[in-house]
This record gives sequence, C-alpha cells and structure tokens, in this order.
Amino acid sequence: MTGVVVVGAGVGGLAVAARLAAGGHHVTVCERAAEVGGKLGLIQVSTSDGEYRFDTGPSLLTFPQVLADLFDETGEPVTSALGLRRLDPIADYRFADGTRLAMRADQYARDAAFDDTFGAGSARQWNAFLSRAENIWAASRGPFLESTVDGPLDLLRQTKNIRDVTTIAPWRSLRSLAAHYLDDPRMRMLVDRYATYTGSDPRRAPAALAAIPYMETTYGGWYVEGGLRKIADALVDRCTALGVEIRTQADVQKITVTPDGVTGVRLTDGEVISARTVVANTDAEVLYRDLLPLPRELRKLRRASRSLSGFVLLLGLSGRTLGLGHHTVLFPENYDAEFDAVFGPAARPVPDPTLYISNPADDTVRPPGQEAWFVLVNAPRQGQVNWREPGLADRYAERLLAKLADRGLDVRDRLRFAKTITPADLQDRTGAVGGAIYGTSSNGARAAFLRPANKSVVPGLFLVGGSSHPGGGLPLVLLSAQLTAGLVGSEKHR
Ligand SMILES: Cc1cc2nc3c(=O)[nH]c(=O)nc-3n(C[C@H](O)[C@H](O)[C@H](O)COP(=O)(O)OP(=O)(O)OC[C@H]3O[C@@H](n4cnc5c(N)ncnc54)[C@H](O)[C@@H]3O)c2cc1C
Repeated sequence: MTGVVVVGAGVGGLAVAARLAAGGHHVTVCERAAEVGGKLGLIQVSTSDGEYRFDTGPSLLTFPQVLADLFDETGEPVTSALGLRRLDPIADYRFADGTRLAMRADQYARDAAFDDTFGAGSARQWNAFLSRAENIWAASRGPFLESTVDGPLDLLRQTKNIRDVTTIAPWRSLRSLAAHYLDDPRMRMLVDRYATYTGSDPRRAPAALAAIPYMETTYGGWYVEGGLRKIADALVDRCTALGVEIRTQADVQKITVTPDGVTGVRLTDGEVISARTVVANTDAEVLYRDLLPLPRELRKLRRASRSLSGFVLLLGLSGRTLGLGHHTVLFPENYDAEFDAVFGPAARPVPDPTLYISNPADDTVRPPGQEAWFVLVNAPRQGQVNWREPGLADRYAERLLAKLADRGLDVRDRLRFAKTITPADLQDRTGAVGGAIYGTSSNGARAAFLRPANKSVVPGLFLVGGSSHPGGGLPLVLLSAQLTAGLVGSEKHR
C-alpha cells in the first residue's frame, strides 16, 4: 500500500484518514492549526465558578448512521467512543407573533403540536410535505449523495427512471415546494430554515433540500454528551489506534506534482513529504487557488455562489432560564429581509436576524447552576462585510443581546462573559474563504454540480469535506469521506 497525505484535520480529513488506514494505507494528516477539528471547534473558558465548554461549530447531529458506519467500518462501534443522545423536542420554534412550536421527535406528539399551533389540518399538510420529502430522499440518496457525480448528465444516467426526476423537480425551489403543500406562512418559514443548513437561500435552493427535514424527522436530531466537539476527539483516537500520524502546525503550502500526478506536499517551513496520493480537506477554493492552482477548476467553482457565514455569540450566564430547552429558534418578522441582507447585492449584518440558541442540558459543559449559550445568526461572509472593522463585532453583539431581550430572553444582567466569533475569525481559524460555513451554497439548479468532485483531474489528488461533493454539514462531510476513501482504494495504478 502507498502513502497518503491528508491536508487538513477537519471532520472530513480525520474520517477519510481513519477509513484509509483501516484499508491498510499509511496515512499522514497535516493540519496547519495547533488543534485538529476545523469547524468542529471548542472554546473553554475558566471562571471562578468553574469551566464553560462551548462547541463553536456544529450543535446538532443529524443522520448519525453515517457516523456509526464510520466507526463500525474502522473498528469498535460509535457507542464505545461517544454518548449520543436523541433530542425531543429537536427544537422549540418561536415566531414573531408569539406562537411557539415544539418540534417533537414523536409523531403523535408532533402532529398534535402542529394542529394546536397552526390550526386543525396543519399536521396533515406537514406530513404530506414530509411524504414528498421522503420520495425526494429515496430518489436522490443513491444516485447523488452516495455516489460520485460529475455533472447533471451523470446524475441523469444514475437516476433510474423519469419519475424520480419529476419527484426531485430540479427546476423547482425549496420555497415553491413548501408553498405547494403548506398554507400557513409560519410552516413555510420552518421549511425555509432548512435551506440555511446548506448555507443557502430558500428562494433559490432546490426543492431537493426537502430531504433535510425528512432526514431530521426520521433519523432524529442528536446531541453528543460533553459537546459535539467530542466527535473530533473520538476520530483522533480512532485514527491514532489505526496508526495514522496526525501532525498539527503543519501548514501545507503546495501540493507537488509532475505530469504523471501528485508527488506529495511541501510545508511552509520547507519540509517535503512524499506521497503518491494527496487528499485535500481544505476549502476547495484554497486548494485550486493556492495549493495547486488549476484555473479551470477555480473558474467552475466561482460560478457557484458561496455559502453564507455565521456570527456566533458565546455567553456564560449565571442562573438558569425558565422554559428554555436545548435548541431554540427565534424567527424574525421578515425572513426575506434576512436572506436579502446575507445574499443580496447590499450585504450587511442582518438587522433583525433569526436567533438560534443552543443551551445544552449537560453539566459537563457548564459550572453548577450556570448556562453556556451558543447563539448563532446567519451572516454575510468576510469580504461582503468587513467584520474586522473596529467595534463592529461588539456593536453587533450588543444588538443581538437587545434582540434577545425583545423576545423575552433578557440575559444582560446574568452575563458572566460574552465572546464573539465573526466570519473573519472563522476564516482565520479554519481557512474557509470568507468564513463560508458550507463551501459553496446550493443556490440555483446547477449549484450541486459546480461543487468539486471528490476525484480531481490530477492523478492522485482527491478532495474531501464540506466544500466538495456532496456538501457541508457533518453527515454529508462523513459521506464525502466514505466516497473519497472508496475512490482512493480503487486507484490501483498509483
Ligand atoms: C458556526 C457553525 C455551525 C455549524 N452547525 C452545524 C450543525 O449544527 N450541524 C452540522 O452537521 N454541521 C454544522 N456546521 C458545519 C460543519 O461544522 C462542517 O460542515 C464540517 O465540520 C466541515 O468539515 P470539513 O471536513 O469540511 O473541514 P473543516 O472543518 O473546514 O476543516 C478543514 C481543516 O483544514 C485545515 N487547513 C486548511 N488549510 C490548510 C493547509 N494549507 N494546510 C494544512 N491544513 C489546512 C484547517 O485548519 C481545518 O482544520 C456548522 C459549522 C459552523 C462553522
């Protein structure tokens, strides 16, 4: 077996490293940061009350089967490494008019909640929407998510029959699909939100994204005891057990090539590591712009719009908030104004954004009697807005605290500390261009095909992670690792 270098120790990099090592490859992971994990980050804050541990990236795990498959196929099952807890409700949605919906995991409880909140017949409409979403999932899972796809024609070849194409309705937006099934504008808002799970605008994202609420409802929304960051720790343990060498502060400057293909990587300190296979877990734009300039690939990538970014507030709070669950979403009055501010030509910090609060009921991440809130709002990328402008992050944080207060969650007199993570910080920490959370967005019917393939045009160079096929978010990144490991494994000539 030949040596493989993985560039980047995000979830995708670590997952592909574990799979390749389990397949007998000798794998070295080079991570430029001092810590592994990439966007799956952690910030610890010590106070006189004790320690707060904040996940700075993912707070909800969906479709945990792919994580389970990874652990099963590389050694001991996931339950030996991580404590997974299914959340019920998955989220408490609060609308600007004061109505609330607890998105229950249990079907009967969920139906009752929909009818109580939105009126009789609402559960029937929601279930009709989910049933269409199930068909979309069934039609797209094999040919798209679990396959390497090179373009629309490739997908058409892989899609078994024409009924599947009409089910997926590639010409239709998520917004228009929701309008077809759901009368209540608040229920449509719920669907709109799932577009943001891929960093996209529901008015332009394809109807196929309806598969996300279907997956969330069917396979559940999960928390990892101790915080989702534990996934990265568990992946490091698995990699180490399989003999993977993980090097931090190993910044790859170039991927070296000859006309026959890749020969290895060169680090910024001049060290050269030879390898006949390189798997890039960096942002694909960074790969094709800096590490191995390929103008054609870069042009293709830039035809797609980039994903949105996020502005994060980490709050250490004294005391407990009555009635606040694990995940709470506070919708604004005008959702479209939010998408205009993030994706429109006059991008700006969203004046009245959807506020997402993650407040894990987990005493290992907060001192006794305290709360550790992760508050996330959608934000334009660094570059669209200059998040480094002095004072901007603090002013925006104040605004968000005031917005929380307007919605009945005034925590300003309970604040032990507040920290911000701007899109510029995210860019600096993870190398994501502009702090785009999901690489390119799914805006537009062709967006999925502008995402770079897992196998590049250069022999021996592969891609893994959220900015390559099939997309961002933990489940898709883990699928990407599965696909890429398969491709490397079948590369017999190198
Ligand atoms: C605020 C936020 C909230 C999120 N919420 C959720 C959620 O609730 N659920 C969910 O499923 N997903 C969520 N996500 C998305 C999820 O975190 C990502 O899709 C996933 O973690 C991306 O993993 P990745 O493998 O693509 O790599 P990344 O995490 O992007 O890691 C890439 C790694 O490559 C390294 N690197 C870059 N350049 C070099 C170089 N030249 N040399 C060496 N190393 C390099 C970087 O330092 C980094 O460690 C969220 C993300 C963020 C930021």
